[in-house]
Amino acid sequence: MAERVLVLGGGLAGVACALELGDKGVDVTLVDRNDYHQFQPLLYQVASSQLPAEDIARPHRAIFREHATVEVVNAGVSRADLSTRSLTLEDGSTLQGSHLVLAAGARPNFFGVPGAAEHAFPLYSVADAERLRLHLQRLLEDAIDQGSAMQPGQLDVVVVGGGPTGVETTGALAELMLALRKSGRLTRPGQITLVDRGDALLAQFSSKAHSYAAARLAKAGAVVRLGVGVAAVKPDGVVFDDGTQISTPTVIWGGGESGATVAQSAGPAPGRGGRIDVLPDLSVAGYPGCYVVGDVANIPDPTSPGASLPQLGSVAQQSGKWAAENIVRARNGTPTSPFVYKDKGIMAMIGRNAAVAEVGKHRHQVEGPLAFAAWLGVHAMLLSGVHSKTDAFITWAWDYFDRDHAATIEASANPHRVAWADHGEDVPHIVLERVSP
Ligand SMILES: Cc1cc2nc3c(=O)[nH]c(=O)nc-3n(C[C@H](O)[C@H](O)[C@H](O)COP(=O)(O)OP(=O)(O)OC[C@H]3O[C@@H](n4cnc5c(N)ncnc54)[C@H](O)[C@@H]3O)c2cc1C
Repeated sequence: MAERVLVLGGGLAGVACALELGDKGVDVTLVDRNDYHQFQPLLYQVASSQLPAEDIARPHRAIFREHATVEVVNAGVSRADLSTRSLTLEDGSTLQGSHLVLAAGARPNFFGVPGAAEHAFPLYSVADAERLRLHLQRLLEDAIDQGSAMQPGQLDVVVVGGGPTGVETTGALAELMLALRKSGRLTRPGQITLVDRGDALLAQFSSKAHSYAAARLAKAGAVVRLGVGVAAVKPDGVVFDDGTQISTPTVIWGGGESGATVAQSAGPAPGRGGRIDVLPDLSVAGYPGCYVVGDVANIPDPTSPGASLPQLGSVAQQSGKWAAENIVRARNGTPTSPFVYKDKGIMAMIGRNAAVAEVGKHRHQVEGPLAFAAWLGVHAMLLSGVHSKTDAFITWAWDYFDRDHAATIEASANPHRVAWADHGEDVPHIVLERVSP
């Protein structure tokens, strides 16, 4: 068979892999159901109307414009088979490669909570963020029209999950409500409530960050409820396991994730979190020529026996590139090499002027502008894999972080855009119907 690497998934991992192979002149077919790469760290900015969806969805054809050996197939994959290194597309056709790289990412995990999959808004894809933005925008417009006749609870939001996604989303929505009230457009802003079963926000951070996040959210007017789980989600509210309820049309699910659906039947028995366990060189035991990278992989953490690396953008990007390098090594008859992760730290942006980061070997903690600078550095680096103009992102982000004048309402009109200066024809096709990732 002629050498051709099949890559399933055009997220941070799949794109990094295909770019590296393309740089080496290797033939690649990258398959993704979307014709664009989506930058998940900024999804909450889209959901809270701070950025238009197009600004974080970069068309794959633009990313690979200079890479003649990379072909992009825009199609859903119904089955991946690691034993034959093949992908079955939703139209029934099959693609086969000399190598297969699975980079299919993750999907929201509703943990079997009744009604959550049907009624909660997940925040995992650009389509999820855009659906949520449109829902909130409709509620806000109705509330502004109705004035004091607005129904109680109409604008209330419950955010499930106290990790970075939940905290960032809560911060952005609380600031939005505050801004709408200050500007006089809303008489009764919605109450944003963040709930988590655990006893701290940002659990993977140190305890200082837990209190910092809680204090910043409280300052923005959000309510945090810890030690309480969600028992059910209904179309008009949420029921907690302590028997209490909140009536709301908006429950946002940031409560966890598991490996992409396609990984469940790809051959190897799925490991923890429905992800595929990989060997230190990112290949899969018993499946020659196959590599699994990014959020869909359990990548062993060499510094902590038995543990896996976290589901983070920098792990995804670095592992995608590393798998490509190992494919090239194997092609050249040299041994593959175990993945070495360069840890960039963990960070979260809680709102304007509020960020927390833990960086360096000893997880040194910083807050405020310094943390924001760390966040910016890491995210600009992630974006540099898909955009050549990261300076446009840096300008946008400093402006966002610095802007105190929260009464500038981005709620529905004219959010401040990233000046990407892409080609006019580089428009992503964002389809809003729900698909199972
Ligand atoms: C809301 C949110 C915020 C985050 N914030 C941060 C952050 O601040 N910093 C950070 O480092 N990390 C963050 N992360 C994590 C980071 O975004 C992920 O670790 C990273 O994007 C994973 O990249 P990936 O390529 O493995 O998967 P993805 O980016 O999810 O890409 C998977 C691709 O596969 C495609 N695909 C999947 N199944 C199929 C199929 N059956 N057929 C066709 N195509 C398919 C999908 O369309 C998608 O394009 C965040 C994640 C989320 C959800």
